[in-house]
Amino acid sequence: MKKFGLDTELVHAGEIHINGAVTMPIFQSVTYLFEDAEDYDQVRYSRLNNTENHIALHEKIATLEGSEAALVTASGMAAISVSMLACLKSGDHVLMQDGLYGGTYHLATNLLANLGVEVTFINGDAPDSWEAARKPTTRMIYLESISNPLIEVADLEAGVAFARTHDLLSVIDNTFASPANFRPIELGFDLVLHSATKYLNGHSDVAAGVIAGSEELINRILPVLNIVGATLDPHACFLLQRGLKTLGLRIRKQNETAMQLAAFLSNHPKVKHVRYPGLPNHPNHSRATDLFDGFSGMLSFEPKSGIDSGKLCKSLRFAKEAPSLGGIETLITRPAFTSHAAVPGAERARLGISDEMIRVSVGIEDAVDLINDFDRALNA
Ligand SMILES: *Cc1c(COP(=O)(O)O)cnc(C)c1O
Repeated sequence: MKKFGLDTELVHAGEIHINGAVTMPIFQSVTYLFEDAEDYDQVRYSRLNNTENHIALHEKIATLEGSEAALVTASGMAAISVSMLACLKSGDHVLMQDGLYGGTYHLATNLLANLGVEVTFINGDAPDSWEAARKPTTRMIYLESISNPLIEVADLEAGVAFARTHDLLSVIDNTFASPANFRPIELGFDLVLHSATKYLNGHSDVAAGVIAGSEELINRILPVLNIVGATLDPHACFLLQRGLKTLGLRIRKQNETAMQLAAFLSNHPKVKHVRYPGLPNHPNHSRATDLFDGFSGMLSFEPKSGIDSGKLCKSLRFAKEAPSLGGIETLITRPAFTSHAAVPGAERARLGISDEMIRVSVGIEDAVDLINDFDRALNA
């Protein structure tokens, strides 16, 4: 649990000063001496996620998310897959938000379906419609704190209330908000998942995932993680631990710059529409204001017709066209041709994902340079 401010905890929580080292060293050893271990549970082995590098990170992440316990995994998809495997069995039914991250959607509709787990997709913004989708076998409700690429905020409070009323496990992918902007455990979520590849590490140089929840849940998930073997390698642990220390600084800057860029784009004569929860015209603006400490570094926009978004992306100097998000460099994607290319055109249109839509993950560059970059490209 967090006792001090976020930035203080980011630097100090979980740190172990081995041999007086101020910074956590990398324990590049897969196995450890038996010493006084009496049974297999006490064996220390990298895949069992119990080396010093893992322990320090688990403590830091639990502190940030305000959970009793936490785990790190080899990727965000590892965190999601392992949690599902541990918490669901054949015959169970899950309610999942529409428009999920593509990997999660694939997991739900292919792998879970093959294991006999049934999924129904729900509109995260229409809690009145959820009861009709619920079944006697429903065990879990699964939401994302901010959706991609529409940057919408589901009715997260209703999600927690619905789970409590019907005794469901409430699970949230908090990747887009990060604990610097939103801590779902405080709202009452049972399990928080992250692609730490994104904001938590923040430098686009590590693939990692996070699972945070109660001691009891984490103790149920850990043996599955140990068997699946999706362990985070010690060097990646070190990089994630280093990246985490600046999370607060990065996120505050990214929140601020995204707000400025969103406001600039929404007033630009060549821009049709901007989606950013910090803008008063965003449909979930008041909900995001109530729930979040910041509106994130993620926004999407559509240029006016006649502007080719492909050419626009290529003519930007600082914003690089590449998948992923949450790093210190500004990245852009065109969802209709990348993350959502597999979604049929009619379905994309229904969701509001036009071919011209550009998603922006705002980095830590100077806001003025980013704004000038977009202005120049739009006017070119
Ligand atoms: C990237 C992402 C994931 C998957 O994470 P990986 O680290 O790439 O496995 C899951 N959920 C969301 C919201 C993401 O953006």
